[in-house]
Amino acid sequence: MCLLKILGKSIKSRIFVQKRFKMAWRSEGATNKDLIEQLQTYGIIKSEIIAKVMKDTDRKLYCRVAYPYVDRPCSIGYSATISAPHMHAYALELLQKQLTSNARVLDVGAGSGYLTVCFSRYLQAQSTESNGFVVGIEHHPKLVEFAKENINSDDPNLLNNGKVKIIQGDGRLGCEEFAPYDAIHVGAAASQIPDNLLKQLKPGGRLICPVGPAGDTQQLEQYDKLLNGEIKKQTLMSVVYVPLTDLKD
Ligand code: SAH
Repeated sequence: MCLLKILGKSIKSRIFVQKRFKMAWRSEGATNKDLIEQLQTYGIIKSEIIAKVMKDTDRKLYCRVAYPYVDRPCSIGYSATISAPHMHAYALELLQKQLTSNARVLDVGAGSGYLTVCFSRYLQAQSTESNGFVVGIEHHPKLVEFAKENINSDDPNLLNNGKVKIIQGDGRLGCEEFAPYDAIHVGAAASQIPDNLLKQLKPGGRLICPVGPAGDTQQLEQYDKLLNGEIKKQTLMSVVYVPLTDLKD
């Protein structure tokens, strides 16, 4: 209770400072539900299903920091971050049409496992008979372990029943074993769009990936594979992500 009061006070003073200096709004909540409701209020989350999926996936289980309910990326070690909640929300919003109950989804650079689980919950929310699954690919062995631990602390059924698969490997190569995918999300910046990922996209599928130099602003790019196999590219917005790297570097 006391902590909540302190948090409440700090949120009020943050609002004052942000208004006073016309700073960009940053949502933060005392609980996961609170944070997600703020993202709804500010129009970042538009879909009720996405709000439910993100409320059901408590961020504190995926980033072990004192204040997990702040809309900013947090370090998860090994030069990686769990993305800011608004970026998780955008990714879900952008891929919504592809996230049908039987969809196959590839999440490149699974990191904490948060978004991988949100994708899975979204597929399962479409039908009680959902056969869809999500493959989270992560190259760092310690983060593979971290993602699995986080997911098991949330709901061990997700890994046990194969709705979520966490695989160690170089995500730039995709994961041929379960291709083609209806939706591919890349959670780290590529210097150029990996060819293998475009190849593993199903006709009618969508890939979103930040593209640009490491340590600088990148562009979030959206690639739609049309039914005739043609690729349609759209540049969505400027973003800053950690880079997709070679593990040996
Ligand atoms: N969506 C994740 C983002 C994690 S940060 C989350 O919100 O938790 C990006 C992740 O990409 C890091 O975990 C990093 O280890 C991973 N990564 C970087 N290069 C990679 C590569 N070549 N193959 C697979 N994963 C990679």
